[in-house]
Amino acid sequence: MIVPDTKENHDKCICNDCSTYNQCMVDNQEGLFCARGNTLCEIEEDECLCVQCPIDKEYKLTVRLDLMEKMILKMNQFYCGKGPAGSKK
Ligand code: SF4
Ligand code: SF4
Repeated sequence: MIVPDTKENHDKCICNDCSTYNQCMVDNQEGLFCARGNTLCEIEEDECLCVQCPIDKEYKLTVRLDLMEKMILKMNQFYCGKGPAGSKK
């Protein structure tokens, strides 16, 4: 499901609790990467909290997937590095 790029959704984003979220992203007030696409900041992928995010549930980014798809998606989250949900890079 496409995630609309709205302030309301940005407010729900939990990226700023994530260890991958860095100072460059803070400075640029970035977030909602699943809708807005990847950051231009350099990132070092650590964890990704997207699967725990209310936006993930609301827009069913993972809940309807089977186990194998979830495993694949888990490896392919990091929307901040790989671009918005539903896109391949
Ligand atoms: S997209 Fe995932 S990895 Fe990137 S900052 Fe958000 S929760 Fe962390
Ligand atoms: S799914 Fe990830 S990128 Fe999208 S709003 Fe939630 S924490 Fe942010």
